[in-house]
Amino acid sequence: MNEKIVVIDFGGQYNQLVARRVREAHVYCEIVSYRTPLTEILAMSPKGIILTGGPNSVYEPGAPAAGRELFETGIPVLGLCYGAQLMMQVLGGEVRRAPEREYGKTEVALDTPVSPLFAGVSDPTICWMSHNDYIFRVAPGFRVTAHTDNCPVAAAENAEKRLYAFQFHPEVLHSVQGTRMLENFVRGICGCRGDWRMEDFAERTVRELREKIGDGKVLCALSGGVDSSVAAVLLSRAVGKNLTCVFVDHGLLRKNEANEVEAVFGPEGAYELNFVRVNARHRFYVKLAGVTDPETKRKIIGEEFIRVFEEEAKKIGRVDYLVQGTIYPDVVESGLGGESATIKSHHNVGGLPDYVDFREIVEPLRLLFKDEVRAVGLHLGIPEYLVMRQPFPGPGLGIRIIGDVTEEKVRMVQDADAIFREEMANAGLGGQVGQYFAALTNVRSVGVMGDERTYDYAIALRAVDTIDFMTADCSEIPYGVLKKVTSRIVNEVSHVNRVFYDLTSKPPGTIEFE
Ligand code: GLN
Repeated sequence: MNEKIVVIDFGGQYNQLVARRVREAHVYCEIVSYRTPLTEILAMSPKGIILTGGPNSVYEPGAPAAGRELFETGIPVLGLCYGAQLMMQVLGGEVRRAPEREYGKTEVALDTPVSPLFAGVSDPTICWMSHNDYIFRVAPGFRVTAHTDNCPVAAAENAEKRLYAFQFHPEVLHSVQGTRMLENFVRGICGCRGDWRMEDFAERTVRELREKIGDGKVLCALSGGVDSSVAAVLLSRAVGKNLTCVFVDHGLLRKNEANEVEAVFGPEGAYELNFVRVNARHRFYVKLAGVTDPETKRKIIGEEFIRVFEEEAKKIGRVDYLVQGTIYPDVVESGLGGESATIKSHHNVGGLPDYVDFREIVEPLRLLFKDEVRAVGLHLGIPEYLVMRQPFPGPGLGIRIIGDVTEEKVRMVQDADAIFREEMANAGLGGQVGQYFAALTNVRSVGVMGDERTYDYAIALRAVDTIDFMTADCSEIPYGVLKKVTSRIVNEVSHVNRVFYDLTSKPPGTIEFE
C-alpha cells in the first residue's frame, strides 16, 4: 500500500504544482475537489492533507467551505493561502480584507521557536505571496510562526493538533525554500518514508495491469503522441498480443508523422502488440469542408474519430478493456478533476465510448504530469524523439488552421511546420523551447514574387517558454532564426507569401490558436 498525501482543491492556480512538489519529495499524491465528502477522503487513508489556495474570500457567503471535522481527524493538515485562511476561520480565528495586499516575492521572517516546517530554512526566506485577505487573528491554540512587514501571520501552527497554515505559496518555485518546507511537512510531520519513485511506477503499473486484465482483450487508440504511446507500451508489456492498437490517420498530423508512428509500433517495430493503421484522411476532409468555428471543428474531428475507431473495433471483435492516455492536466483542463474553469473540450477525456462494447476503461497515466509521463516513457525504452515530442492536440492541424480546413491548407501548414522544426533543431533550440509550431492564418494578402503579384496565405509561427503549460511566455527566438525560417517558408511552401511571429503570452492567449 502506497503512502499517500491528499491535496484538497479550492480552485487555486497552483494546485497542480502542490501535487508535483509532493511527488518530488517521493510521496504519492492525489488531488480531490473540496466537495469530496470527508468519509471518501478518509477512505483513501492519507498520511497528510494539504488545502490549496483559491480565488474566493473565506468570509463571503457561498465561498468553498470545510467542516470542523476535517481538522479533527488527527491527520496532519497544511493549509496554503485560502486553505490557511479557511482553517483559521473554521477553527475560530478571523480573516479580513488586508489593509495591504501582497503579491509577488516577499521576505518572510521566522518567529521562534522555529517551526519544524522551517527546519533547514534560512531566516528571512523569500516566499511567493498572492493574497488580498489576511489572517487577522489566529484560531485558539495556534501560535504565529512567521510574519512579513505587511502580514502579521505569514505562518501559524497548532503543533499538538498537527495543523499548519501558510499564507504564502511554498509550491511556487519563487518561494526559494518552499520545496524544503513541503518536504518537512510530508516527511517530518506526516512521517512519510518518501520511497515512491517514478521508475517504480512503470514496473508497478505493468504488474497491476497484468493482474487486473488477465487474458482479457485490450484496445488502444494510439495517436502517436507521448501519452498514448507510453500507455500503449505499458499495456504491451502487460498483455502482449492481447493488445490491439488502432492508429487513425485523420490527415491532420504533422508531416511524416503517420509513417513515424507506424515505424515504431507497426510490425517492424519493437513491441509485442497488434497494430492497425487506418488511412481515413479523406473522410475527415469531407466532414470538415467549409466549417470554420473552432469548437465545431473539434467536435467533428472527435466524432469522426470515434466513428472510424468504432468500425475498426467491430472488426477486431471482443474488447474487454479500452485504454486511454489521459494524463492529469487533461482531467483538470476538462473540468472533471478540478475546481478550475473548463478551458477547452478535450478529446481524451469525458463521455467517449459507449460505442464499443467493453467492460472498463483503463487510464494508466491518469495521475501523472507530462514530464512524469516522459520519465516513464524513457524508462520503458521508447525512442527519445517520440518521448520528447512536442505536445500535439488531438484535433491536430485541424485547430492550427484558422478557419476552414482543406487538404491544400493542411499541406501548407505541414510543410511550414516541418521547416520551422528543422531550423529550430539546426539552431540547437529544439529541446530548449517548451513548444513551437506553425499555424495557418486565414489571412490572405498581396505580395510580389518573381515580379508577379501574389495573393496568398500567411503562416503564423508560435514558440513559447513554459514549464507546466498552464502559463506561457513568448519565447525570444533569435531574429536570425526567425528570418531564416521565414525566408524558407515563403520560398518553399507554395501559396504562402507572408510569415508572422506571435508575441502573445498565455494568458491572455492560449498556446494553440483554436
Ligand atoms: N482569495 C484569497 C485572498 O485573496 C486567497 C488567495 C489565494 O489562495 N491565493 O487572500
